[in-house]
Amino acid sequence: MSNKEVILQADGMILGGEKQEDGTWQFIYEDEVVHTWTGALRILSRYPWQTLSPVAVHPEFRFLVWREIEKAGCTLDKWRALCGIDEVAALADWIANSVYTVVLTGAGMSTESGVPDFRSQRGLWTKYDPFTVSHIDTLEKDYGAFQEFYSYRMRELKKVKPNAGHRVLARWQKHDIVKYLATQNVENLHQRAGSVNVAHLHGGLEMIRCHICHSAASKEAFIEKELCMACGGQLRPDIVLFGEPLPQDIWHAAFQEIEKSDLLLIIGTSLQVAPVNQLPRAAGGRVALINLDETPFDSEFDLVIRGKAAEVLLETDKLLRQAE
Ligand code: NAD
Ligand code: ZN
Repeated sequence: MSNKEVILQADGMILGGEKQEDGTWQFIYEDEVVHTWTGALRILSRYPWQTLSPVAVHPEFRFLVWREIEKAGCTLDKWRALCGIDEVAALADWIANSVYTVVLTGAGMSTESGVPDFRSQRGLWTKYDPFTVSHIDTLEKDYGAFQEFYSYRMRELKKVKPNAGHRVLARWQKHDIVKYLATQNVENLHQRAGSVNVAHLHGGLEMIRCHICHSAASKEAFIEKELCMACGGQLRPDIVLFGEPLPQDIWHAAFQEIEKSDLLLIIGTSLQVAPVNQLPRAAGGRVALINLDETPFDSEFDLVIRGKAAEVLLETDKLLRQAE
């Protein structure tokens, strides 16, 4: 007697399966039989099944099917509904089972604190074009505009506070749930939320130095347009401007940590700034992204949660605590 069940049905194509006594599955497609999910996927890869209209997905395979849909970049609502996938629950599950979780954040991490990002439509840079004014050429050729932009950003940052998402990450670091935290952000909201070790890939606005001789100076000196006491050079925040290389020690450390990770969680970045956008490809394990808008790399990730960083992190944290 056959116990054949429908594993996946989309329009006219049906992948069947039979559960064996030892709990494993045998997959059947027309007259082909394979014994692993990878084998079944190999058969399915011959057909554009992700683009077909789904009819049925076996409960035991919902999550695996959904991963393939996500990988193929077809986040179709019909598949999502049929797979009953709660992505936040999946993320919480992965975090709970991960041995080495690494987090990489970008400007989207801080928009809920009131710091505008650069690229999304909500980026409120009406007065300045951040890409021009944050370029090394502007510092060297139009110091007035450079100094005005960064003094403005420093004043604005005084008004903002860490959000619930920053606090969740700080708590996860404290409880050893997150092993390494790297950010592209140049403010210090992660630290202000309680994070202790934060790798600032693009430097920090808190530190001021001479552009020529690297001597340290105060924020006040920069805001007051003073020159370097040691050499008379122009002062600047110790950040990485467009057109400048990243600090090599921090870059290599971040690369190695991401290679070591079995879960890389990327939060709030358009992944358009190189070389940081190469980091996800170094990941040793799964990669999950929480971001409001699409990024060029979405189809390469194992999980994409389209949502607000603080809201998603709070929800994930709640699920993790329930599971404790
Ligand atoms: P970006 O502006 O290019 O992209 C931000 C991304 O975050 C967008 O894709 C947007 O959809 C997403 N986003 C916005 N609000 C979000 C939210 N609440 N939750 C989840 N996602 C959200 O920023 P980037 O990729 O970090 O690169 C920008 C560069 O500019 C970096 O070099 C960074 O140093 C600098 N920058 C820093 C800050 C900061 O320090 N807070 C702010 C703006 C820009
Ligand atoms: Zn100097």
